Amino acid sequence: MNFRIGHGYDIHRTIAGRPLVLGGVHFADCDFGLDGHSDADALTHAICDALLGAAGLPDIGHFFPNTDPAYKNIDSQKLLARVREELAARGWSIVNIDASLIAERPKIYPRLAEMKARLADSAGLPVDRVGLKATTNEGSDDIGKGLAIAAHAVALISHDS
Ligand code: MG
Repeated sequence: MNFRIGHGYDIHRTIAGRPLVLGGVHFADCDFGLDGHSDADALTHAICDALLGAAGLPDIGHFFPNTDPAYKNIDSQKLLARVREELAARGWSIVNIDASLIAERPKIYPRLAEMKARLADSAGLPVDRVGLKATTNEGSDDIGKGLAIAAHAVALISHDS
């Protein structure tokens, strides 16, 4: 079996007046969202980049340019599903994904299982192949001050040849 590993990172600034979407889950009771062209789901973007990187493909900005009106406010679960298709078209299957979300607010843990389920669904994986942790930055930097939310992800993919 031919395995490849990939890493992804993303960060978006918090902004008032946008819905907060992380891992495909809408935090309706949150008074801020993330700034960006799409739904600005930093967690899902980091996962997309981990998968694309593993396959040696260009990053998410290449496949879904932030200058293209087609991706304005798009649900990033659609981007993740498309990344899965791009990999599948090249013979790659996703083995597993693991990600860490860094957010001072809101409390992520109560929605963690829901996020894992949505990400697993978009990636075409059983939920036990998606790892997800949430942490804060302990007030230490812009993320810690609630000015941004970031995510790291790794992914393993395998080729059928
Ligand atoms: Mg992004």
